[in-house]
Amino acid sequence: MNSLSNRAVEQLLGAPGPQRWRITQSLIGLTGYLALALLLWLGSAGEGALLDRARVQPPALAMLLAGLSGYALMRSGRNRALAAVWGCEPSLTLPQSLIGLMLVTWVYAVTGAARGAVLALLVVVVMFSMFALGRRQAVLLAAVALLLLAAVMHAMTLADPFRYRADVEAVHLALTALVLTGVTLLSMRLARLRQRLRDQRTALARALEQLSEIATRDDLTGLPNRRAMGELLLTETARHARLKAPLSLALLDIDHFKQINDRLGHAAGDEVLRGFARRLEAELRGADVLARWGGEEFLLLLPGTDAAQALQAVERLREGLRLQPFDGIEPGMQVSFSAGVGLCLGQGDIDSAIERADRALYRAKAAGRDRSEPA
Ligand code: GH3
Ligand code: MG
Ligand code: MG
Repeated sequence: MNSLSNRAVEQLLGAPGPQRWRITQSLIGLTGYLALALLLWLGSAGEGALLDRARVQPPALAMLLAGLSGYALMRSGRNRALAAVWGCEPSLTLPQSLIGLMLVTWVYAVTGAARGAVLALLVVVVMFSMFALGRRQAVLLAAVALLLLAAVMHAMTLADPFRYRADVEAVHLALTALVLTGVTLLSMRLARLRQRLRDQRTALARALEQLSEIATRDDLTGLPNRRAMGELLLTETARHARLKAPLSLALLDIDHFKQINDRLGHAAGDEVLRGFARRLEAELRGADVLARWGGEEFLLLLPGTDAAQALQAVERLREGLRLQPFDGIEPGMQVSFSAGVGLCLGQGDIDSAIERADRALYRAKAAGRDRSEPA
């Protein structure tokens, strides 16, 4: 039953998304036209009716036609092609409301003594459209509504001066102008509010982006931090298990870093960490990722790389570093690192693989530093 009603809604309104909203709007428009046509039909029924059937029938039929074709246009999706041709937004608010205004003023011309109520409909059409329009278009629409109404009133005072008295029309026009001005001002205020909301949403999205940057980047070196690397390890091990490709990692630790701090100061130590990260990153292959694991320790992830290739890659990094002394800190200053390098066998092996790399790193340190050891 539920899925049946879901399917009925899907048939009527199409798939969820912005187009469904437009289709819904067109259905609301169709319902409005239907209701008005029905009113005209009822008001012109029987002897001595308020309305003249022959006069109200053409606009009533035109409204049915407009309502149905509006829905058909949206439901078939042709509104998008039309919007592209006309250079307007895909809900076609402006053309649709212009048609609505013409129909309502037409009804005004044929309803004689009952026409006063029709003015409220004119305001409804303008109000409905204003929320979708920009400020200038909203003012334009209100002006067109007034002009159209004035033209129809003028024509009717000439064609039917007995029922459409010039002074009554003037009062109608003035009151409508007053109401439309109020509605336009209100819609402008709403437009400003909506703009402010949009601005706030953009600012919020930017702040979120910055936050996620802060949460995943190491401040000092700009490398991915431990948390980001932890997540990358999870996704990469899963991906490599699917691909049945090897994945290696290496734990790198700067040699005698404490001495650098002690001899040159903490700020120089920081500069060494930055320079170290920059130099290694420049030597890395595209897919490899270096992260700051903590202090002067770095974790290198080598996707699609077996243990022997990983060891080779780390050796290349060591050579590269040797060729780039830290002259900016102290002329000829050499910085080296020791590393433990090994395979990671899958998601369940991450912690143990890091532990094995750590033990290999310890062996590299014990063997005299400035070298890499297989895990
Ligand atoms: P080894 O060759 O055995 O690795 O010796 P080491 O001196 O590099 O290692 P140790 O663990 O004794 O010292 C690491 C030092 O790194 C201690 C700590 O104060 C320093 N350190 C950790 N993080 C930072 C940082 O962000 N900036 C600076 N300047 N120093 C740091
Ligand atoms: Mg250390
Ligand atoms: Mg160290």
